[in-house]
Amino acid sequence: MAFEGLSEKLNATFKRLRGKGRLTENDVREGMREVRLALLEADVSYKVVKEFVATVTERAVGSDVLDSLTPAQQVIKIVNEELTNLMGGANAKLSLASSGPTVVMMVGLQGAGKTTTTAKLAGLMRRQLGRRPLLAACDVYRPAAIEQLKVVGSQLDLPVFEQGQGDPVEIAQAALRHARDHGNDLVFLDTAGRLHVDEALMDELKRMKSAVHPHEILLVVDAMTGQDAVNAASSFDEALGIDGVVLTKLDGDARGGAALSIRAVTGKPIKFVGTGEKLEMIEPFHPDRMASRILGMGDMLSFIEKAEAAFDQKQAAKLEEKLRKNRFTLQDYYDQLQQIRGMGDLSQLAGMMPGQLGRQLQGASIDEKQMAHTEAIILSMTPLERENPQILNASRKRRIAAGCGLEVVDVNRLLKQFDAMQQIVKQFSKGRAAGGRMHGFG
Ligand code: GDP
Repeated sequence: MAFEGLSEKLNATFKRLRGKGRLTENDVREGMREVRLALLEADVSYKVVKEFVATVTERAVGSDVLDSLTPAQQVIKIVNEELTNLMGGANAKLSLASSGPTVVMMVGLQGAGKTTTTAKLAGLMRRQLGRRPLLAACDVYRPAAIEQLKVVGSQLDLPVFEQGQGDPVEIAQAALRHARDHGNDLVFLDTAGRLHVDEALMDELKRMKSAVHPHEILLVVDAMTGQDAVNAASSFDEALGIDGVVLTKLDGDARGGAALSIRAVTGKPIKFVGTGEKLEMIEPFHPDRMASRILGMGDMLSFIEKAEAAFDQKQAAKLEEKLRKNRFTLQDYYDQLQQIRGMGDLSQLAGMMPGQLGRQLQGASIDEKQMAHTEAIILSMTPLERENPQILNASRKRRIAAGCGLEVVDVNRLLKQFDAMQQIVKQFSKGRAAGGRMHGFG
């Protein structure tokens, strides 16, 4: 998942700041130099980094921060807010037509993931909003492109409109008529890609734009290409005008520069991110949640949404309620582990878990065996102990360890992890109570 290096470096900086207790202006400036380096190493555009650091510094060296009882936490809070702003603040949704079919033009360079994303997004809109999408094959230059759209469409059981190699603009218009006649309220136009932005491509896209008046032009870019993705976004926006970006392959992008730069450089929001090759691996992009992930505070909201999508609604609601009320116990942890097994890619989920726990889970050590150990330890406890692990004394820990063929250190490690997780859950529920944002972490 993206941002590993950045996350690590920022956390090291904040740890140093926290270790100091009171902060001087110099401490903050020193910390900001580290933040600056961390962002540059994450391949964030130079100008964006410069402005970001200037804004944070200006806010952070104020007396209300430095004189506060928790200056380091205030600094982290400011970084969190400014990272959120940098990525666009609130989640930007797809604009939908008030009547008639919504037309979404999917554009992008070859290999960015346009065709895959078209199907993913259509599937997401059907799942989340109950829409009835139609996919239209407007990339007429490569027969393989039409075939590919048909393949991904059939995998998701989505209708695909194609007319072979005709004029792409006419095909788009015909697809719209087809949608009206067949009750499809959302039409995705899968347009042609090129290796580079070129005039012929832009002319065709512009012609299509003025012929079908799309409600949304979404540009698909590959996160792994870093600043090239940002440049592609600028070029498409200047030539064609785009409404938003889908950033694909975030799962393979260890740095995160594109995610952090696109909005600031182009003014256009990232609306969705692709997080894997499977057709359900797409998520709406939430700048605030992404900022929390970068700062190691986890993304419990996305986690809960995934849980809701994957499991029993009642159970997910119960979990959310428990998180809000700060009543998350080892038993809940155990139940979650059980469910997580059925949720798919573990390291991606781990990225949504807060703090040290998330980082540990994300590391190479995450494996079925370790999960099995954790489960075995929790199972060896009595129900009362699972609710109140603080009652465990040395002899009970020995017995629990013996009961599952492990050592006392394994039991202690689990308890420590769980404790850290609870601290964060506590801050999370406080933050929610204070108005939906994360506050007071650190
Ligand atoms: P197009 O040429 O822009 O239409 O790109 P494709 O849709 O053919 O995708 C190119 C490759 O990227 C394919 O192998 C996809 O499976 C892969 N891909 C697309 N989105 C993602 C993603 O979010 N994560 C990963 N890991 N691979 C992706």
